[in-house]
Amino acid sequence: MPDPFDLVVRGATVVSPGRQQTADIGIRDGRIAQVGGDVTGLQEVRADGLLALPGGIDAHVHLVYRALAERIRQTEPVWVDDFWTGSLAAIAGGITTVGNMTFPLPGESAREAVAREMAGAAPEAAIDWFLHPVLTDPAAAADGEIAALAADGHPSVKIFLTQPEIAADQPGLLAAAGAARQAGALTLLHCEEADLLERTGQELIARGRGAVANFPDARPVAAEVAAVDQAIDIASATGAPIYIVHLSSAAALHRCRRARAEGLPVHVETRPLYLHLTRERFTEPDAAKYVGAPPLRDETDREALWAGLAAGDVDTVCSDHAPWTLADKLDPALNVITARQGVADLETLMPMLFSEGVVTGRISLDQFVDLTSANAARLFGLYPRKGAIAVGSDADLVLWDPRQRWTVDGARMQSRAGYSVYDGWQVQGRPRFVIGRGQVLLADGELTANPGQGQWLRRGHAQAA
Ligand SMILES: [Zn+2]
Repeated sequence: MPDPFDLVVRGATVVSPGRQQTADIGIRDGRIAQVGGDVTGLQEVRADGLLALPGGIDAHVHLVYRALAERIRQTEPVWVDDFWTGSLAAIAGGITTVGNMTFPLPGESAREAVAREMAGAAPEAAIDWFLHPVLTDPAAAADGEIAALAADGHPSVKIFLTQPEIAADQPGLLAAAGAARQAGALTLLHCEEADLLERTGQELIARGRGAVANFPDARPVAAEVAAVDQAIDIASATGAPIYIVHLSSAAALHRCRRARAEGLPVHVETRPLYLHLTRERFTEPDAAKYVGAPPLRDETDREALWAGLAAGDVDTVCSDHAPWTLADKLDPALNVITARQGVADLETLMPMLFSEGVVTGRISLDQFVDLTSANAARLFGLYPRKGAIAVGSDADLVLWDPRQRWTVDGARMQSRAGYSVYDGWQVQGRPRFVIGRGQVLLADGELTANPGQGQWLRRGHAQAA
């Protein structure tokens, strides 16, 4: 009689690439130890009728640990979820790993910022996490810092092409991307052309059209396409893999598809906003609550992104969870340039994609897993520890009820934002149980997580998704 497992998941339909099978899963020491066959456990979860999926990996979030939020809030509003409430939102939505953007404070290097955030996040996080250092001076970081970050287990850097002085320094960007390539790191790029944004925004304000309702006009598709072209030039000139965050338009996707067809290492992320909403929303009285950059686009863009998910032109769907209270979003002092960007989406990312994608037949269940877990694991150096239900992988599982119908109500969700841009949407599919490294974090819909039980993930080299 073999020793019982620590935990057994019994009766779920296990989803792995190209196949779905009803099998029991044995978990020991936080890892998957057996899939199928006879298993007995000290603890069991009954999962009949549920899908067993790899825990979601949301590689793009903005969580602010408590002490930092308190410090920033002395002078200005800030994103309202820390690593604890962010973890709860993630778990409730089926996500067991997040990648957070780490911004240096004034005068701080990227390495110092990472060290500070590691200390701040550790006692709060209930799910596993990793960090993307944001580079405020890419040219300088090329000289050793990017390599040091990768050696420390942070093989990714984020660069904002919305920063005029950064976007204007193409040699510095080439040096940074080249250094990242050397170090086995991925370069994440926010693609909107800085000069065009500035000019368009100022023109709108000068013509009396500076209200936030005009936000989509202030950040045109042309700005995204120009920056995506710059990003592709960087990949082409250096051979460095790039990852375009929150791609929003058909035209930009077309550029990426063409670059990929030419063999360039261009990876594409989109976010739920662009799959579910269009700029029509900006005609609503509370238009400002839909602000994210790039802005909401047209229906043709929305359709192109769905087609891109189905065709494999998009690698990941990540939330860009950047939650504000509704009052902070709707602050009447804001304009097209100063509007607060970002929405809460950690809890809704997977259910909405399942409901609007898998239930409708736009994408397959395998594609859902690729887009929400496996591809991010590969790109961010975590595969197959994460992103797979396989012997030896971390026991990160979401036991998904594909039939449960529910209505989005941000006031009852975990984010401190207190509302959702999808309030009132009817959704089908939701996590019933969530397991992180063998620990039950959501039990039949009830959160059972504790602060600090998440781990920082030391990452290795990326693999092509
Ligand atoms: Zn972001």
